[in-house]
Amino acid sequence: MTEYGFDEIERRWQARWATQRCFEVSADTRRPKFYCLEMLPYPSGDIHVGHVRNYCISDVVARFKRMRGFNVMHPIGWDALGLPAENAAIKRGIHPEKWTRQNISGMKRQLQRLGFSYPWEREIATCDASYYRWNQWFFLRMLERGIAYRAKAPVNWCPNCATVLANEQAQGGECWRCHSAVEERELNQWFLRITAYQDALLDDMRQLSAWPERVLTQQVNWIGRSPGAEVDFAVEGGEPIRIFTTRIDTIFGATFMVLAPEHPRVDGLIAGTKGAAQAREALTRLRSQDRRARQAGQVEKEGVFTGRYALNPFSGERMPIWIGNFVLMGYGTGAIMSVPAHDQRDFEFAKKYGLSIRVVIQSEGEALDGATLTAAYEGPGRTVNTGTFSNLASSEAIAKMAAHAEAKGFGKATITYRLKDWLISRQRYWGTPIPVVYCEKDGVVPVPDEQLPVVLPPDAPFTGEGGNPLEKVPSFVQAQCPRCGGPARRETDTMDTFVDSSWYFYRYLSPNKADGAVDLAAVRYWFPIDLYVGGIEHAILHLVYARFWTKVMRDLGLVDFAEPVLRLFPQGMVHMNGEVMSKSKGNTIAPDDVIVRFGADTLRLYILSVAPPEMALEWSEESIAGSHRLIQRLWRLVDRYTEGGASELALTAELPQPARDLRRKTHQTIQRVTRDVEERLHLNTAVAAFQELLNEIGRVEESVTEGGGRAALREALETLIVLMNPFTPHVCEELWQRLGHSGGLVDQAWPLADAAVAREESIEMAVQVNGKVRGHILAAVGTTEEELRRAAAAEPRVAQLLDGKSIVKAVVVPGRLVSFVVR
Ligand SMILES: [Zn+2]
Ligand SMILES: [Zn+2]
Repeated sequence: MTEYGFDEIERRWQARWATQRCFEVSADTRRPKFYCLEMLPYPSGDIHVGHVRNYCISDVVARFKRMRGFNVMHPIGWDALGLPAENAAIKRGIHPEKWTRQNISGMKRQLQRLGFSYPWEREIATCDASYYRWNQWFFLRMLERGIAYRAKAPVNWCPNCATVLANEQAQGGECWRCHSAVEERELNQWFLRITAYQDALLDDMRQLSAWPERVLTQQVNWIGRSPGAEVDFAVEGGEPIRIFTTRIDTIFGATFMVLAPEHPRVDGLIAGTKGAAQAREALTRLRSQDRRARQAGQVEKEGVFTGRYALNPFSGERMPIWIGNFVLMGYGTGAIMSVPAHDQRDFEFAKKYGLSIRVVIQSEGEALDGATLTAAYEGPGRTVNTGTFSNLASSEAIAKMAAHAEAKGFGKATITYRLKDWLISRQRYWGTPIPVVYCEKDGVVPVPDEQLPVVLPPDAPFTGEGGNPLEKVPSFVQAQCPRCGGPARRETDTMDTFVDSSWYFYRYLSPNKADGAVDLAAVRYWFPIDLYVGGIEHAILHLVYARFWTKVMRDLGLVDFAEPVLRLFPQGMVHMNGEVMSKSKGNTIAPDDVIVRFGADTLRLYILSVAPPEMALEWSEESIAGSHRLIQRLWRLVDRYTEGGASELALTAELPQPARDLRRKTHQTIQRVTRDVEERLHLNTAVAAFQELLNEIGRVEESVTEGGGRAALREALETLIVLMNPFTPHVCEELWQRLGHSGGLVDQAWPLADAAVAREESIEMAVQVNGKVRGHILAAVGTTEEELRRAAAAEPRVAQLLDGKSIVKAVVVPGRLVSFVVR
């Protein structure tokens, strides 16, 4: 017996794949292509098991497709710019670049030790100036088209990260990276006009039928398209106030108006009123409330009357104007008409402050009454108490009333979006410098293409005292105006790192191209991405930006399609003791430790076998040992087989029963595994099929020692090794070689199942007597109904029950059951 020395085996095969450049790839129009992409890692220092899971899934698909005859692109790179490197620099006094490069080389070793089939010559790191120069080039093209622009705007400021955040990165008023409460500041910033593509981002979802519904739903909600109307409400003794509503059909039920505490009109309205001092005090309190909690509706609804009144433009009714903490400036106009009968938040507010509640929509089969209502009725219905607009369906009323408002000049139909333009300015060092200078004479001047890249200066001071380190490098800040030649100040803001990951998957196709961002011919061959595997947490940030970027590239004439990713597959999380594995919880597992103890193949097999890839995986040491045993069993089977000499034998037509059983199981396994990997990515059930075939081999091993039987055994072993290759490539290569093959398994063709061999020879059928199952028979496929009836009646227990009775009826359901009715 030989020993399964996984460490030596794995390193030897990894070295061979590298020296033979097995995974290098180039466009080949004679072959079908498959672009298998995974989300590139941030070089934080360690590959964690979440990465391993992501990359194991895509590696199985890449290796499988390759064996199926596809030309496979399966590249990897590094999302290498960003805040953690800079924070490490401050904390440890090591330059962000040095820290990043060290981490990349360590993590690269880890990935190589896992045996992933990457074309390493295509590796990219977004911190290379040869990469980020194209971020700058794209930025300049967007600047020319008005897609990039600079504006003073209230922005999300994270005091802990000392930088601004995009809206998407400050959801719920919380910094996406450090979870600090985000503040609002008024600053001059660079934006990308993603809102110009908001309808396209929605409409093009028609092309994303192979994306999970939950990802699309998140994007739809994030873009937040709501058709509605803007309506001006006259204010007694003041300028009108504009509100936005998606339910103008309920406007006759508006009994008061509510403004956000931050609404610019608030202070003016209060001034001079009787309760001004009290209102101002309340306002100060409302403004100091946690914005995040307000947004999430987690604070008690609270408000104060301004002392002023507005007039309902439809009913002419006088409506008190309130200030309320549940209205926010970010959406619509920061002012709402309150319809307590038909909006739950308004209802709660009205109940608290004793404001009137009037029903103007009746739901089918109910008689709603404002006086007895216990909750708002928010659904559609028919209008009541709405003057000339009464007795209309909600949808009809919405159209007619919006048209009326427009005709009378106090409103119009409009659509609002939750999506805001993408704020890309970051006041940090470790990012792509924004390629503009400020000239006293010429203002904002773009850096000409031929002066790109604007490179990060290596000598910036990292003090941790706040502020952008780039501002403290005179040789960087002092520039010459490209237009007038005079002195100019260089922009020190750098780009959000989500810019880097918005288009990296194009750069893999021509990583060294010096005269352009992308190679059009290569893009035509390789795109779209056939499969993109990555975490669901990227459903709205990265995956919205990447779609946006491709649409911009199409408009620049760089690509001729609107969507880069055909199929998206978000893998599940890795849990331990029921909780998500994370550094902060201290429940992480180092993949390296598992590799040392069991080898990379065991780790791969374990991760793939223990749960469906889209579901959460609960880490379990016992299951790892189980995966290791599966590989060892295969190893020993091959051992015993080769001890019997490796003579070539033919599969003769006349095989003994155990050999026929084995062949059937072998071909059924091919069918199952092919279907599981190809169509559904049910990699865990594929592993279960390996286990079953192993069991079957073990069961018949002793009785297939010669002739055709031995040939069937060989077929089973070889098939299993080929099928398992995408999952556990090292040990499979080794065993393949030990079975006498000289060529590498990596290019072995995927086996085809022989349907005739795979077909079951006999089927177990139930036998019922008067509706109860009383026994089972094993029937050969193709047995006639008459023969089945006879065999069923002869089954010993059934025969006992039939004895002395008369059979009224005998029904045969082929392949399933024989049923007798007796008296
Ligand atoms: Zn932060
Ligand atoms: Zn100038």
